[in-house]
Amino acid sequence: MDISIVIPLYNEAESLPELVEWIERVMKENNFTYEVLMINDGSTDSSWQVIKRLHNSNPCVKGVSFRRNYGKSPALNTGFERAQGDVVITMDADLQDSPDEIPALYKMIMEEDYDLVSGWKKKRYDPKSKTIPTKLFNATARKVSGIKNLHDFNCGLKAYRKEVVKHIEVYGDMHRYIPYLAKNAGFTKIGEKVVQHQARKYGVTKFGLDRFVNGYLDLLTLWFQTKFGKKPMHFFGLLGSIMFFVGFIAVIIVGALKLYNMYSGHSYRLVTDSPYFYLALTSMILGTLLFLAGFLGELIIRHSSDRNHYEISDAITDVDEKEQKQ
Ligand code: UDP
Ligand code: MG
Repeated sequence: MDISIVIPLYNEAESLPELVEWIERVMKENNFTYEVLMINDGSTDSSWQVIKRLHNSNPCVKGVSFRRNYGKSPALNTGFERAQGDVVITMDADLQDSPDEIPALYKMIMEEDYDLVSGWKKKRYDPKSKTIPTKLFNATARKVSGIKNLHDFNCGLKAYRKEVVKHIEVYGDMHRYIPYLAKNAGFTKIGEKVVQHQARKYGVTKFGLDRFVNGYLDLLTLWFQTKFGKKPMHFFGLLGSIMFFVGFIAVIIVGALKLYNMYSGHSYRLVTDSPYFYLALTSMILGTLLFLAGFLGELIIRHSSDRNHYEISDAITDVDEKEQKQ
């Protein structure tokens, strides 16, 4: 099969027939063999009935229905697990992404050898309240992830080599950072294509402005996991050592000054009268706590099941790699 189109959707019943019709037209024009995987993320409208109806008239339309609303990332992950096409395309269900882009994306993966191609909604048809924070969001994501050539991390329209989607796990709200996830899994040929974007035709957006707050928190999490996920002590240990050391030296200085003043006949006060004493104390306590966090992190990793899980692309050994996996 050439293409799997994965579509996460939540209450998009009005858009679906039009979307599927459009996809069918594009697929037919290009002679692609394909499947459309609709992941119904616990819709409360008639989306699932519509999907069943669409399946009856075209068996290439398939679907999975969640019992409740889990979010876009879990929906994508479920689609990725089931996708069978050589190239996997994701797109939103709201007709904002155009299926006409699919052939070009497919070509970039198959012929130009990209692992992942992300759409770039260069000209957006969204309210200003969304486009301006988005610019900031993307600039930060570029900086943190080190993927310098992407302008639009969160574009719903993306194409992947099949291997990529089978090796990444999208969870929580991490769909905003799939290129970063892919990069961490070792897929580094990441490209971009300018795509057409349209205003939402039916229904309403499912994400509010809290997306930006959550987005930043997720980015921090990902950054931490990438850098120190397998060795938290290197992060906490360093910070803890510095703080403890600074506090320790400060305590000695405060104590030594008092002793000096005592014995040289100057006037002196209780060490607890000095603000430096409290700063030093706090710093030592924080340092110890950070150290403790590092130790706990290491213990947790020691017992995590994927502590020795690595992405292996190829191997020449006498051991059967498939058996090795089990
Ligand atoms: N979506 C989903 N589960 C959710 C929220 C959204 O599957 O909990 C789907 C939604 O139906 C749409 C896509 O994710 O197909 C993008 O959502 P939306 O268009 O609301 O986001 P925006 O375009 O405003 O960024
Ligand atoms: Mg949308």
